[in-house]
This record gives sequence, C-alpha cells and structure tokens, in this order.
Amino acid sequence: MMRIPITMSHGTNHWQSKAHGVPLYEAERFEGQLRIAAELGFQSISYDDLALWRDDATPLPERPIMFDFDHPNKAILPLWRLMERYGFKGNLFVNTSPMEKVYMDHVYMTWDELREVQASGWHIGSHTHNHMEMSYMARKDPSGGLIREQMEKCDAILEEHLGIISQDFAFTGITWSQATEDVVKERYRFARLWIVGSRYETDEGEVRYADMVGVPGDEEDDGGPPFAARYITKASNSYRLPSMDLEYLVYEYDAFRRYLEGAFQATEATAEVT
Ligand SMILES: [Zn+2]
Repeated sequence: MMRIPITMSHGTNHWQSKAHGVPLYEAERFEGQLRIAAELGFQSISYDDLALWRDDATPLPERPIMFDFDHPNKAILPLWRLMERYGFKGNLFVNTSPMEKVYMDHVYMTWDELREVQASGWHIGSHTHNHMEMSYMARKDPSGGLIREQMEKCDAILEEHLGIISQDFAFTGITWSQATEDVVKERYRFARLWIVGSRYETDEGEVRYADMVGVPGDEEDDGGPPFAARYITKASNSYRLPSMDLEYLVYEYDAFRRYLEGAFQATEATAEVT
C-alpha cells in the first residue's frame, strides 16, 4: 500500500522556539530536509492530486510527498523560494483574519504575496477566520454555529481575494472536536491534523492520535504515534489526515530521512508479498 509522507511548517522561526524547548527552525534546516527529499526522488503533490488518486485511482508519482504549511506567515516566503529551487510545491492553509491586518504586514503576507505563491502552483486551503481552538468553539456553541461561521468567513475571503472555492481544511492547534468534524464534512473534502507529539486535545478530553485514526500499536521511542499513523494511505480517514511538524519529531536529519524512507520501504515490502 502506498504511504505518502506529509510535513507541516509555520515558516522559519527565529525567536519563539527556544522558550518552548524546540530547536530554532531556519531556512538552512529546511533546505537540508528538501535536499534529502530530492535525493530520495520524492515529488510534491497537492490535495487535488490526492483527491484524484483517492477517487479516480489517478496514479501519483512513484514517491509522492506533501509539504503543508499553516498560516499566511511572511516567514514561509523564504521556504517557498527554496522549494521553487528544488521544484517542490506546497499546500498552504490560511486563517484569514491576519490578512485583514495591514499594519501587520511585516509578520503576515500581503494579498499580492499570497497570490504570487498561489500562482507559482501552491494549493490553498482553509484554516478558519480567527483561529480559535476547536474544542473551545465547540464548548461555546455546541450547535456548531460558531464553527460554521468561522469557516464561511474564511472561505468567502479566500474566494474574494484568490478566486478559489476552498475544498480543504486544517484544524487549528492540536485540537479536535466532533462538532467541527461534522461541519467539516459538509464543507470540505479533506481535513488535516498536526502532529508534534502523540496526543490530541478533543472535546472529550485528551486522546491518542493513533486511537483517533484507528492505528494499532504503542507510541514509538521518539514519543510520537506509531509510524504507520504518520503517513497518508488509501485507508486514511480523509478528515483526520496526519502531518509531521518539521520542528518536532522529524527535525533531525536522521529522523527526517527515516520518515521518508519508511514510506517507500513499506511500499516495496508490500509489493514483494503481493
Ligand atoms: Zn494554525
């Protein structure tokens, strides 16, 4: 069975991570990771490619990878330029409220910048308008009305400025709620979660990500979910897709290489058996 690695990033990071016990994430590190992906023959795909593969069995490149990004952060632009050099395209999930704050243009992309990224072949998805936590919104309005309003506003702004009808969604933070997923299913074709450890904050308390997606096995030695839960496969729940943050479990080059190699080793092993 094909396993698709999927990474996540918020852009370079020069100031916050030391305080959170996370290494600095700089363009050099990202380029090292891109080099490994390129060496191993990976080709980037979008959520459109993923949908075609899932729904119509349209084949993917032999070694597909997804590079996801959240937030319209200016700090993503250096990474975008590096990816252009390596021929990779990303998927960017936009929370729209920062796009309205023109006085924050040194932190967030302008619409012109975002349109340039989009025109270069990046796929754009939704990340709500105000980026409130899913469990908080579900508690505040169990009917799902607040969540729906947040999605509608985000999608309307993306349509107005980028001319797209957004089809894909990324949950905010490490939070999930049933109410959100119910609304997500009405509006989008895919929804993606964010993996920095093994656990998820839900409206029913803390749960293991592996349990949410029904992957058996214990956490791995790095403290993250079982390896099998870290890839997209044909069996993946389309509304609970994983993504491996580049600053956490796959930050070290060895770990990143192992993650990528784990994708095709599994494919080859299956191919030998069948
Ligand atoms: Zn976010």
